[in-house]
Amino acid sequence: MPPQNFIILGGGISGLTAAWYLARNAPSSTKITLLEASNRFGGWIQSTRVGEERILFEQGPRTLRPSGLGAYIILDMAAKLNLTGYIHAVGKNEPAAKNRYLYYPDRLIQLPGGGLFPGLKSIVQNKFMLSSLYSVIREPFIKPLKNLDDESIHSFISRRFNSTLADTLMSALVHGIYAGDIKKLSVKSTFKQMFDMEQIYGSVIKGTINSRKLSTLSQKDQNWLNLLCEENKDLFAFMSTTSLYSFANGIEQLVYAIVNDLKDRENVTIKTSHHVKELKFDKEIEVCTNDGSFKADHIISTIPSHELACLLPDLPYLTYNPSVTVAVVNIAYGRQNLLPVKGFGYLIPHTTLSNPYHVLGVVFDSDAMPHQDYKKDKYTKLTVMMGGHYYNDLSENDYPNKDELLSKAVETIEKQLGIYLTPLQCMAKIHRKCIPQYYVGHYSRMKELHYMIKKKYGKRLSVGGASYFGVSINDCVTNSARLALDLLRNDGIVTGLERVEGD
Ligand SMILES: Cc1cc2nc3c(=O)[nH]c(=O)nc-3n(C[C@H](O)[C@H](O)[C@H](O)COP(=O)(O)OP(=O)(O)OC[C@H]3O[C@@H](n4cnc5c(N)ncnc54)[C@H](O)[C@@H]3O)c2cc1C
Repeated sequence: MPPQNFIILGGGISGLTAAWYLARNAPSSTKITLLEASNRFGGWIQSTRVGEERILFEQGPRTLRPSGLGAYIILDMAAKLNLTGYIHAVGKNEPAAKNRYLYYPDRLIQLPGGGLFPGLKSIVQNKFMLSSLYSVIREPFIKPLKNLDDESIHSFISRRFNSTLADTLMSALVHGIYAGDIKKLSVKSTFKQMFDMEQIYGSVIKGTINSRKLSTLSQKDQNWLNLLCEENKDLFAFMSTTSLYSFANGIEQLVYAIVNDLKDRENVTIKTSHHVKELKFDKEIEVCTNDGSFKADHIISTIPSHELACLLPDLPYLTYNPSVTVAVVNIAYGRQNLLPVKGFGYLIPHTTLSNPYHVLGVVFDSDAMPHQDYKKDKYTKLTVMMGGHYYNDLSENDYPNKDELLSKAVETIEKQLGIYLTPLQCMAKIHRKCIPQYYVGHYSRMKELHYMIKKKYGKRLSVGGASYFGVSINDCVTNSARLALDLLRNDGIVTGLERVEGD
């Protein structure tokens, strides 16, 4: 029989999705309680309007990708939460979809993908791109390393392509997703499809060609996707022409909609300002917070693994991976069209030497999500992200303060984009330990963790959230939705880490 009384730890998108999926699919007699430590829901998702102009600043995630199972799940949720009319989509032919840049070694370079001519021009003009192109042509002929357990992204890309591609394009991409160090991150846990292509097809390029014909989804996930498609035909047809999307009031609008839906349900209780301090596994499970205790028969933890380690120190590897700290500076200038180029923004690889403030990348928000501001024709809006793995050696007192962050961001924009104006509105924040880093060997460690949870906690504990398998919102939502359905439909033990059983 499935659990009757769930407590979910954490009210970020992972915890909220788990609660929402349980609430919609469990019998109405099932009790669902969600406990969040801070005074708001959403975790890293935070969309704020500032100033008289009510300019929208995203302090965390800002765009969602409409591809893969996760996208279908979110869009289905959006439809059921009556958010479809608020979706703001960027079409595949718009500059934000086509034009992405690198800042390397001391200027903006357009990446291939923005059309044949600019792509070719960029390749011909930049030695590192010519060398990368050559490595792509050569890759299918490089002997595969079969039965490889894992290696760093840098080592994998250098081996299959070349180190130039690893040190430029790949380093920049990894800064954009993980704010991480490609020499430490696991290729198997961050780019699993690419890792599997070498194991299955002997080559990434051959795998890419073949995977167009074959679905990478399990039969169960494929059936799920088919069902979602059947229910949302029109929405999915529209989204197939889209490259990115968000909502009128930013990504947090999705959070508000889930929270309001959950608040209306009799069998669901959701609480902020309830920091879970202790878990006592007895006949029942007692969850102790700063503001009272609660009883459950199953715990779903979606808090970061290093936080869960404080509650369950007997579980292995919860503190093995660090999480990086990222500084986010949002800036709006009071004039439009200030950017020298149009596009989504640019990323900076670790080999760009003139990067004294450790900038990871700059998003051109007024191009990337142009319709969220009420007077969109009046501003140029940007976000500068700094730090990540570059801040790993800093102690708490060494982080730049808000004024320092702002002046570093403004100086970066002056130097790299040639904009010499005083910002109309700005906001700077340090996000401590915000993106988990899956270091080499993560997959094997999760396998041990999975079997240890099974052995020690049986049917009483499962885990989800960004610490385990994927940091994107698409991943977090997919994992939580799958976990909730598995817990309700599966009579055996469900830990949330079942995928490790496949390897
Ligand atoms: C700057 C930034 C930009 C990003 N950009 C994108 C993007 O553009 N697209 C994208 O897809 N993804 C992006 N991401 C990643 C994505 O936003 C996160 O991985 C995702 O939101 C994590 O959600 P979560 O619910 O798993 O964890 P969290 O958001 O960390 O939520 C966990 C919650 O648990 C609570 N908690 C912790 N300890 C306890 C406790 N003991 N008791 C109770 N509650 C507790 C926390 O307060 C928090 O609210 C970005 C992340 C950052 C930081």
